[in-house]
Amino acid sequence: MGILDDIKPPQKKHRPISWSHTPELIHVEWDDKKAYAYAARALRLACPCAGCVDEWSGKRTINEAAVPADLRIAGLTESGRYALALAFSDQHATGIYSWDYLRTLMETWTR
Ligand SMILES: [Zn+2]
Repeated sequence: MGILDDIKPPQKKHRPISWSHTPELIHVEWDDKKAYAYAARALRLACPCAGCVDEWSGKRTINEAAVPADLRIAGLTESGRYALALAFSDQHATGIYSWDYLRTLMETWTR
């Protein structure tokens, strides 16, 4: 997110109709009938928290090799109506994934 994102005209925001999760993935159905299964490890590597992304450069500081291949989702809570807070089996639990962010991830990963 940069300064340009703030001055672009607002886009229609997509909201989830339903979602569910297992230790391996989160499955989300969106209001435009699109659905996507987010793999636990892919979500961990895309963690938006300050510990994983450099605040100033926006560069990802997470070491991909240090994230186990069998990483699981250890906990999930809804953070208000706008986000999911995820805890992973590597004890990392500071990531708040907004629905907007999850939607962007889906669009990036399915491009
Ligand atoms: Zn993080």
